[in-house]
Amino acid sequence: MNLQEDIEKLFSDQMEAWPQLCNAVSQIDNVQTKHFLWGNGVEVTLQFNPARIVSTGAKVDAKNIGERPCFLCEGNRPKEQTGIPFLGKYLILCNPFPILQRHLTIPLYTHVPQRIRKKAGDMLALAEALPDYIVFYNGPEAGASAPDHFHLQAGLKSPALLAGDNELRSCLVIEGYSVKEMEDRFEDVYQYLRSRQPEKEEPLLNIIAFVDNGKYILHVFPRKAHRPRQYFADAARQLLVSPGAIDMAGLVITVREEDFNTMTKNDIEDIYSQVSMPII
Ligand SMILES: [Zn+2]
Repeated sequence: MNLQEDIEKLFSDQMEAWPQLCNAVSQIDNVQTKHFLWGNGVEVTLQFNPARIVSTGAKVDAKNIGERPCFLCEGNRPKEQTGIPFLGKYLILCNPFPILQRHLTIPLYTHVPQRIRKKAGDMLALAEALPDYIVFYNGPEAGASAPDHFHLQAGLKSPALLAGDNELRSCLVIEGYSVKEMEDRFEDVYQYLRSRQPEKEEPLLNIIAFVDNGKYILHVFPRKAHRPRQYFADAARQLLVSPGAIDMAGLVITVREEDFNTMTKNDIEDIYSQVSMPII
């Protein structure tokens, strides 16, 4: 069997054994969305996903992270959750709070911080093994809800997730036919972004990796902020949006019905302009 077939089997087994996952998967199959269009074919999809409050509302400062049991470490994962080993160091798990079809979380076995620099090759290896999927990474200050335990995520491809650079936010596109060449070019991009934010442990970024007709593609979304000011605003003006890779690509997750109902194109433009870092 190939890995994609193994994952189909994992989902059917896990949905039988784990009611919470079964419920979450059926909700994502029927999730409410709406679409906003700009010129030049630019589109943003809004998803209403109340279960994601656990991630959107997550406190990811060092104090809160240090005091909670890590939900990606083996001893703390849900007892029903089982996975598929990958590269001898990762475990492929069904995400019980999905925002995508076949949403996977892929932690390293070891509890080491979220740092992508030497792991772009692992992302590409996973993207190659999963041609129907995108693989994505949220930096420790750019949407990861477990910044202390390295993990990738993945989910089935859809057009909104494959959008490259557009007028709403910046995206650096790296394409190539060999992993080595891709790693070298990613290192150049990483060093450039590091020079822009030298005070950070890792420059703020999100990445989406996928393979298209044998070509490796990385979309790197440079960030200047984790959450927009609307996130912290008083109740009347608050929009609870906490962008990660998927939001940056063009699928914006809202966790409260009032945000889903009231958010406008202007709000979306404003949020992107606050969290995306322009590249000259
Ligand atoms: Zn951990």
